[in-house]
Amino acid sequence: MRQSAARLTGAYSDGQSSQSLSAVLLVDATGARLDTGERQIIFALEDLAAESRIGNTPRVIRLNGSGRFVTRDHDQLDGLVTSGVVMGENKGWIHRLESHWHTVLLSIFGLILGASAAFVWGIPAVAKVAAMALPHDTTAAVSRLSLDAVEQILGGDSALDAERQDELRARFLESADTHAPGLPVQVEFRDGGLLGANALALPDGTIIFTDELVALAENDNELAGVFAHELGHVVHRHSLRQIIQGSIISIAAAVYFGDATAGASILAAAPVWLADMAYSRDLELEADDYAYEVMTSEGLAPHHFSSMLERLTAAHYNEVETETEKESGERKDYFSSHPATSERIARFEARERQK
Ligand SMILES: [Zn+2]
Repeated sequence: MRQSAARLTGAYSDGQSSQSLSAVLLVDATGARLDTGERQIIFALEDLAAESRIGNTPRVIRLNGSGRFVTRDHDQLDGLVTSGVVMGENKGWIHRLESHWHTVLLSIFGLILGASAAFVWGIPAVAKVAAMALPHDTTAAVSRLSLDAVEQILGGDSALDAERQDELRARFLESADTHAPGLPVQVEFRDGGLLGANALALPDGTIIFTDELVALAENDNELAGVFAHELGHVVHRHSLRQIIQGSIISIAAAVYFGDATAGASILAAAPVWLADMAYSRDLELEADDYAYEVMTSEGLAPHHFSSMLERLTAAHYNEVETETEKESGERKDYFSSHPATSERIARFEARERQK
């Protein structure tokens, strides 16, 4: 229905005094007439601008230069606006936003903060719950996949003779039986290949020692310390957490950036997450705490682990330093200044002093 004439009741204020008078606004296609009973004012249609409707709150019609008229006659006013007789002000909500920009800015800030918090704390928390909830079958399947991936950067079969392997394996498995009974732990030895001196804990409980790590140890107590640390990673399912966490971030990034190649990068990065030195600081500290408990209960001094850690980081430092870097002095003390490693060594040494 086309509505071009209307009689609106409401209140008029002239914009100069705070007084408002009850009035009637008569509008048709030719113009508008405001009637307060005492006086009548004629307006051209161009002088009228109606604010947008917000529910049933009283609406303002601005009378250009001559104050405002407030009415609750929504249906009639809507008719005038939709038929184009009275101009509508669509900037109603924008106006509100402008006048509440502090709130808007604060909301955006809150949103960013919330998203960041979810990223920093939420994802690791979800990954932890998911990792602990997964049944052993799943972890075994993930392990088979990750072992395949890891074998590609490891250097193949161990050069250690079978007797030496059995000797170390027997000692480690006895320790695992005592501290984590029922956990299906297996001990494997491999040539380190690209990983060099390292130890890895796969999700299913397979713990891999590289020949280079065994060679680097000054005695078997140091290796027992490393084993206890890796056992901590298995007990707390760190590798699985790391993989899930990395996947969530990659998947989120893929969704966000619409990047289909992200799936491939998840698989490509899996071996890197499994290498022991790629764990986050929190996970390393958790595994260190576990190692400390195991070592103390076995009567091993904590320095067997911290000195091994020191030698291990030094070995990696020398390995990765290029000739140019050696000449220029760049990367000097990278590992000793690396917060995670130096913090871990300091923690172990502090505990030793407390004993
Ligand atoms: Zn570790």
